Amino acid sequence: MHDHPVAFITGAADGIGWATAQAFAAADYAVVLSDLDEARATERAGALGAAHFGVRCDVSIEAEVRAALARTSERYGRLDAVVNNAGIGSPHVPTLEQELGGFQNVLRVHLDGTFLVSREAARLMLAGSGGAIVNVSSIAGLGGLPRRNAYGAAKAGIASMTRSMACEWAGGGIRVNAVAPGYVGTALVKRLQSGGSIDTRRLESRIPLGRLGLPDEIAQVILFLCSTAASYVTGSIIPVDGGWTAFGDAGQAHTPD
Ligand code: NAD
Repeated sequence: MHDHPVAFITGAADGIGWATAQAFAAADYAVVLSDLDEARATERAGALGAAHFGVRCDVSIEAEVRAALARTSERYGRLDAVVNNAGIGSPHVPTLEQELGGFQNVLRVHLDGTFLVSREAARLMLAGSGGAIVNVSSIAGLGGLPRRNAYGAAKAGIASMTRSMACEWAGGGIRVNAVAPGYVGTALVKRLQSGGSIDTRRLESRIPLGRLGLPDEIAQVILFLCSTAASYVTGSIIPVDGGWTAFGDAGQAHTPD
């Protein structure tokens, strides 16, 4: 069995997933960077060092999820932490114009993916000595964002699965939690910005801390949730949003003084 704890991270080739992979590697985990983009995941694993590896895994395809977790188990003989981070944005579209196929695609990646990876990981963890799973929800799953039905439903579904899996697997020593990030400056958000779906200045005025988050600010909370410092935390959805969900007043949330 490998000496160091092992973390399996989905969507680890970019954005929040890549920041999370770096944070776990710095905390002495061996990290499996799984992603649709195998070349990039492998390149980034190489940048972290020989203890880590990259693997192709489309989280919505059962056979790929099984194969990626089997490789993890074969190589390390243990699994301590899983981060269900892989996800896609959805275009902002009025509900009356939303197509069923696009709606279902967003649900497939987020919900099928979180379900499949959690199930396969829990099989390994329950056969070992437990572990921690962190799902990536969103403020979009906590409040209503008009014209983002698919994304909001997916992220609310992830929050719900987090609670149910936490209760189901607590006796087996698996803690399951979620982070609910606000807006973070990653490629996903840049695509929304360049497509005109979001206006950064307006957003910043709606965030009490007055700025978008950094990928590492999400990664550090994920790392905490997998650590022994969070040994009594399970079934929690933690907003990491610069105060977005705390703000309930009219007008500007960010007041510099
Ligand atoms: P990103 O686009 O920068 O990176 C996402 C990564 O996931 C990419 O490497 C991509 O190849 C991979 N990926 C996409 N579909 C996949 C699939 N089916 N299987 C495996 N890998 C897949 O995105 P990000 O901003 O870092 O977002 C990461 C997660 O955080 C997502 O779940 C997203 O919904 C969530 N989130 C992001 C924000 C934000 O503001 N950026 C806010 C809240 C929640």
